[in-house]
Amino acid sequence: AKEQGRNNFQFFAPWMDTQVSNRLEMLINLRRALDQEEFKLYYQPKLSLKDGSVIGAEALIRWQSPEQGMVPPDRFIPFAEETGLILPIGEWVLRTACHQNKRWQQAGLPTIPVAVNLSPRQLNQSLPEFVSDVLRQSGLDASCLELEITENVVMKDAEKSVATLHALKRLGLQISVDDFGTGYSSLSYLRRFPVDALKIDKSFVRDIVRDADSAAIVKAIISLAHILNLRVIAEGVEDEEQHAFLKENACDEVQGYFFGKPMTVEDFTAWLTRQAG
Ligand code: C2E
Ligand code: CA
Ligand code: CA
Ligand code: CA
Repeated sequence: AKEQGRNNFQFFAPWMDTQVSNRLEMLINLRRALDQEEFKLYYQPKLSLKDGSVIGAEALIRWQSPEQGMVPPDRFIPFAEETGLILPIGEWVLRTACHQNKRWQQAGLPTIPVAVNLSPRQLNQSLPEFVSDVLRQSGLDASCLELEITENVVMKDAEKSVATLHALKRLGLQISVDDFGTGYSSLSYLRRFPVDALKIDKSFVRDIVRDADSAAIVKAIISLAHILNLRVIAEGVEDEEQHAFLKENACDEVQGYFFGKPMTVEDFTAWLTRQAG
């Protein structure tokens, strides 16, 4: 332990196994990432299937770690959720996405909602007031914010979640159900929860062309959404065949590498400028 650099924490008290020490190191690194602004938001466009126009952007977090380089969310969000660090990280994401969207509007770019992913722990009673504060501070209209929640988010404490979702809706923002079709919940929540859109999970979209069951599920989700008066968006669209299938089956919106990857602020600004021109 002698010659360790100042930021190079090592934990090897005899009572700690490597797993514990790895987790402790991760916790310290993530805490530092917050303080030193090592997180970044990438933005991926959402497009209308009718005319290909841009109708939104999803904010996706990355961690630019000095030790590990660019770390994808799957490698730290689950840990952040477990440890509660997702709360300050989630607040940072909301604030950053709202301020960025306002900046795009002030630059004269098309007015589109920015979508932010919410972890289950974030959907608590204090969230509506926090969101309301962020909207006021950023000057962003509530109609330009969308929250993406998963089915599991709402299953934990359904009664409280319904109340929180209604309080969020009263602010005027949009709510969509992410990864739709992969959770364990019953469909009955769709009647009780104030949601505006369903996002078809990319695992179904991936297989629509070669797997009849996936194709049937995607068609069923689109019908279900429309019967319930919800918008429906397909994520993970990677090729023209998937695009054609979704268009033919009256899906409303698409998102995926075929149209645009998640981009840095600079790249997304350039992309949006080209779309507008
Ligand atoms: P998600 O919300 O389902 O996001 C979609 C994921 O699919 C993103 O992965 C995106 O980069 C990726 N993707 C987009 N288009 C395509 C495509 O055409 N093909 C394929 N194969 N993938 C595509 P990413 O950015 O690695 O994010 C993974 C997950 O991490 C997200 O899944 C979301 O659950 C979580 N996440 C990301 N940002 C945040 C955040 O700010 N807060 C929270 N709580 N979770 C986040
Ligand atoms: Ca999402
Ligand atoms: Ca307040
Ligand atoms: Ca998803």
